[in-house]
Amino acid sequence: MELLQPSSLDELDRGVPIAGGTEIVPLLREGLLHADALVDINGLVPHGISGTTIGAGATLAELEVDPQVPDVLREACRLAASPQLRNMGSIAGNLLQATRCWYWRLDYPCRLHGGDRCHARDGEHREHAIFANDFCASAHPSDVAAALVALGATLRTTRRELPVRDLYRVPTAADRRTTTLEPGEVILDLDVPAADASTYLKAMDRKRWAFPLVGVAAARRGAETTVALAGVAPIPWLLGSSLDDATPLPGTAYKVEIARALVERARTAVA
Ligand SMILES: Cc1cc2nc3c(=O)[nH]c(=O)nc-3n(C[C@H](O)[C@H](O)[C@H](O)COP(=O)(O)OP(=O)(O)OC[C@H]3O[C@@H](n4cnc5c(N)ncnc54)[C@H](O)[C@@H]3O)c2cc1C
Ligand code: SF4
Repeated sequence: MELLQPSSLDELDRGVPIAGGTEIVPLLREGLLHADALVDINGLVPHGISGTTIGAGATLAELEVDPQVPDVLREACRLAASPQLRNMGSIAGNLLQATRCWYWRLDYPCRLHGGDRCHARDGEHREHAIFANDFCASAHPSDVAAALVALGATLRTTRRELPVRDLYRVPTAADRRTTTLEPGEVILDLDVPAADASTYLKAMDRKRWAFPLVGVAAARRGAETTVALAGVAPIPWLLGSSLDDATPLPGTAYKVEIARALVERARTAVA
């Protein structure tokens, strides 16, 4: 496999982008991703934080300590992964991480791999979704994405500008992708507007270094509070009026109760 280090954004469509490599290297190693060439984008995409603009190459470790970053995003970064991973992992790479569904990671021929069955729905699914879980019951693992959706952040790519929530799509039989990013399209930076108050609360199996069972991001501007959830649907989930619309599987019903408690706590914290 080739590692390309192009000098311009025009050469990006010659391989799969790699930033910190914390997600893509394990996927390659486990045979879940195949690529003839990797394109090192570290010298091409913006880094750093300036006011409300965050470069795609900014690491989670930078974000968790920068006072310019809204509380909800700082806390989501601080509670993600391990210090070593946060030092390497970029915000764009975090948004584009693949599902942690163990059937998918073990390469079962499930629907997300193009097959005709969701092995999790019929099998072990305690970490899976409580919303939009009919076709694929995977739970989106990004704490960071939930924070950005709650804040109403937008993305700039090499081709367009879009709200972070529009980066994601619920997979269907006709189109199994979970993001709307096209081949060769690269995230350049994000605009992350401030909130009057915001917070991120996370339930996990261990006190640290675990993916969210349920993550709750809340951001308030004036009298309006927006809540988005991690770990509850195949994509970061913008919460509507309540959790009563949840459609848990037998093994994920407990997540509805956790989400209810955390949403109430988060709303109180930002009120
Ligand atoms: C053990 C472990 C625990 C973790 N725990 C958590 C957790 O609790 N919460 C959480 O939110 N995350 C967690 N993560 C995810 C972690 O935050 C991501 O792996 C990391 O942020 C990915 O960033 P990266 O720069 O290393 O991405 P890479 O591995 O370099 O890339 C990941 C993907 O993004 C694409 N990509 C990268 N940058 C761009 C760009 N600018 N434009 C277009 N495509 C791009 C790559 O092609 C690839 O598909 C965990 C990861 C691991 C391995
Ligand atoms: S939840 Fe999605 S990724 Fe997991 S087995 Fe079902 S279809 Fe595959």
